[in-house]
Amino acid sequence: MKQLISRIKLIARMVVWDLVTAAALFFLLFIAVDRIDTQMMKVLAVAGACAFVLLMLVLKYQMLYKQYGRDDVTGGKNKKEFERVARDLLRGDGRYVLVYANIDRFKLINETYGNAVGDTILRRIQSIIDEELRWDEVSGRIMADNFGILMRFHSIPKLDQRLHRISRQLSEMSDSGGNSYGIMLYFGVYIIQDEETEVSAMLEHANMARKKISPSHLVPMGIYDEKDRQKLSRDKHLEMKMHKALEDRNFIPYLQPKYELEDETVAGAEALVRWIDPEEGMIYPNEFIPLFEKNGFVVELDLYMFEEVCKLVERWNKSGQRIIPVSVNLSRSHFEIPNFFDNYERVLKKYDIPPKAIEIELTESLFYNDLDSLNTLVNKIHSAGLSCSIDDFGSGYSSLNMLKDVRVDALKLDRVFFANGDSDKRGKDVIKSVIQLAQALDLRTISEGVEERNQVEFLKQMHCDLIQGYVFAKPMPIQEFEYLTFGVR
Ligand code: C2E
Ligand code: MG
Ligand code: MG
Repeated sequence: MKQLISRIKLIARMVVWDLVTAAALFFLLFIAVDRIDTQMMKVLAVAGACAFVLLMLVLKYQMLYKQYGRDDVTGGKNKKEFERVARDLLRGDGRYVLVYANIDRFKLINETYGNAVGDTILRRIQSIIDEELRWDEVSGRIMADNFGILMRFHSIPKLDQRLHRISRQLSEMSDSGGNSYGIMLYFGVYIIQDEETEVSAMLEHANMARKKISPSHLVPMGIYDEKDRQKLSRDKHLEMKMHKALEDRNFIPYLQPKYELEDETVAGAEALVRWIDPEEGMIYPNEFIPLFEKNGFVVELDLYMFEEVCKLVERWNKSGQRIIPVSVNLSRSHFEIPNFFDNYERVLKKYDIPPKAIEIELTESLFYNDLDSLNTLVNKIHSAGLSCSIDDFGSGYSSLNMLKDVRVDALKLDRVFFANGDSDKRGKDVIKSVIQLAQALDLRTISEGVEERNQVEFLKQMHCDLIQGYVFAKPMPIQEFEYLTFGVR
């Protein structure tokens, strides 16, 4: 808004200035015309001068108009202008493709070389892309390190070759010492089926395709297909009914038992959400949690699950049942909300929960950055009388260093460790070392996704504390869990 006001002010100032200049010019012209003798020459002089002033004004405002659609950093088109020109071109004949290009690890380039170099690189990329384009194609910067390109479409191999040409030039970019910046673009491709679709929606489709890069092309490129379209419409469908589903209590906590290894009895559980839709039946979290992480709804859902678990543990406590610690998952989306844990504390206060009866699972990917705020959270979790674990440990690129800094209580070894059965000697050595490391740091270990009996025996020898896997039990409704664990219905 501020930018718009300052632009309007600038244009208003220029218009006033132009009017004053034009008035002065015409004043001088009338003095000059007064000295011309013939009527004919007078008319010609006035007409000529008017035409000149008009032409200059047209040229000037045309230039300004062009600048308005210009990206401040690259000097190429900005998103708005790109979309406008793309829309015009799509009105013509022939097939087009919309490409979404993102620079791989551009943040690293900015951090290593500074923002000024980063900007120069963006400028150069824009001009390299533009050089590849024909008159009836267009490109522009969409935001940050993302570019949109509208290209003619003939075939995937041809498109691949053209994008490869662009990529090759980019990879040659180097600093003053001749060291390559290692610039690489990742492409998402949307082959335009319906020219009437909004260009911004086409960009979204292309961007979506970028996240499923296939290695079968010259460049890293993903192509939007029918499955993506279905996924998008499925996501929209789920988004439309998620709020009502929460209101109607269609999100149900299932419990998957965690077995103590020594005597193979239930010693804990993880609460895993199931969406039980009255029409569709059971919907699994892998289908909706990633979507809810994108749209932010997971924050509400997690808090709801936490409260359901609080109710459950309080009920066990009141009825004199043995307390089985239950863990709940906490999505990384919470970290976008300042002091989000206050909400957890507020819920917790409503219930009578014995210490350490609830565990918060923090996903490993949270540990990639900002260990300080993570430490603050872990301290808050402990002060609230809860314990906490690192979930999916080993599924990403965990830094072992984080174990030193963040004082969690348990480590959940991801199922990637157990995916190869027990045939893999090196795999076993890795599991052994991770368990030993956890033990040295006084962390409990939970192996997740264990499906085979001989893996259980191996984990027993390694003194792993708990196993959560299909080998013992799948996630189940609370009632079933209570029957299994306490023997009551
Ligand atoms: P997770 O937290 O790592 O949970 C473990 C997942 O592994 C569960 O999948 C569980 O059913 C599955 N699993 C356990 N043992 C085995 C096994 O032996 N073999 C195989 N193939 N799978 C096993 P589920 O319930 O489908 O949940 C998937 C993921 O969805 C969870 O992974 C978690 O990241 C997320 N999720 C589930 N509930 C919630 C929730 O309430 N909040 C949040 N934020 N995420 C949740
Ligand atoms: Mg979990
Ligand atoms: Mg896990």
